[in-house]
Amino acid sequence: KLYNEVQDLKGNIRVYCRIRPFLPGQCQKKTTIEYIGENGELVVSNPLKQGKDNHRLFKFNKVFGLAATQEEVFLDTQPLIRSVLDGYNVCIFAYGQTGSGKTYTMSGPNLSTEDWGVNYRALNDLFHISQSRKNSIAYEVCVQMVEIYNERVPVPDASIHPVKSTEDILELMNIGLMNRAVGSTALNERSSRSHSVLTVHVRGIDLESDTVLRGCLHLVDLAGSERVDRSEATGDRLREAQHINKSLSALGDVIFSLAQKSPHVPYRNSKLTQVLQSSLGGQAKTLMFVQLNPDVESYSETISTLKFAERVS
Ligand code: ADP
Ligand code: MG
Repeated sequence: KLYNEVQDLKGNIRVYCRIRPFLPGQCQKKTTIEYIGENGELVVSNPLKQGKDNHRLFKFNKVFGLAATQEEVFLDTQPLIRSVLDGYNVCIFAYGQTGSGKTYTMSGPNLSTEDWGVNYRALNDLFHISQSRKNSIAYEVCVQMVEIYNERVPVPDASIHPVKSTEDILELMNIGLMNRAVGSTALNERSSRSHSVLTVHVRGIDLESDTVLRGCLHLVDLAGSERVDRSEATGDRLREAQHINKSLSALGDVIFSLAQKSPHVPYRNSKLTQVLQSSLGGQAKTLMFVQLNPDVESYSETISTLKFAERVS
């Protein structure tokens, strides 16, 4: 087959691909990224192989290349985020192997403003817009941080915190609540094996009509999608791998059923899909960031990531 096509997405599901740049020390010549088109086309190939069937075309709503900035990525995400203030539920998640830039996209590499990922920019934007509407709608925003590890949600993290400004968010991070979201190095090992879900609850009271609208935004940094060698992993590591596998395929199944407009959506098959249920399906809007490593060593994981994306589109 000469190419595979991730079709233009139906309904409320959209898929963006983001390729992280080479890191210092990585050989730049051996890349699997052959072509990035203006309209979401991506051609990948294995530079160590020859032949026509080596080149595969995938299609996304948008592809962000190696030089894309956090701001550019956010600009294409912003309309979705703003719809939360109009009462929509939105789910944004990053999928990909460990090291492909999921945490970079969702949170950013550090807390300096220009490096902020989608989640801080999103909250900042929500506060901004709610301020500008304050004479007509009174908004309340609460955040909740949940880590799903081995299909369990630890309770202490699950408390809901009211927030009024970006400063409040930064303070919550300082006291450790959102450490997981910023991807601190110490937590990175474990973070690659758990799903991190930042939920933003928005409640708006229309001051004239007294009606209440509610919206909810889920920002999800998924566990690494890499396959674990069954012959090597044992004990805890194998159990983790099985849980990750189960929840990522459950997520794939849910989005696949939604894209197919299937009457039955299998939300109950994993903790992850249960937690995200309110923002998947129905009127909810879903955005998946498909994260890729450009290097040749990642070729087979890149293909399996792209196949996941292709199936749910
Ligand atoms: P993941 O969360 O998928 O395991 P990370 O977000 O931790 O991956 O990214 C792995 C490394 O690559 C980190 O050092 C990160 O800062 C870097 N990185 C990822 N994406 C980008 C990017 N778009 N630009 C620059 N560096 C990036
Ligand atoms: Mg990470």
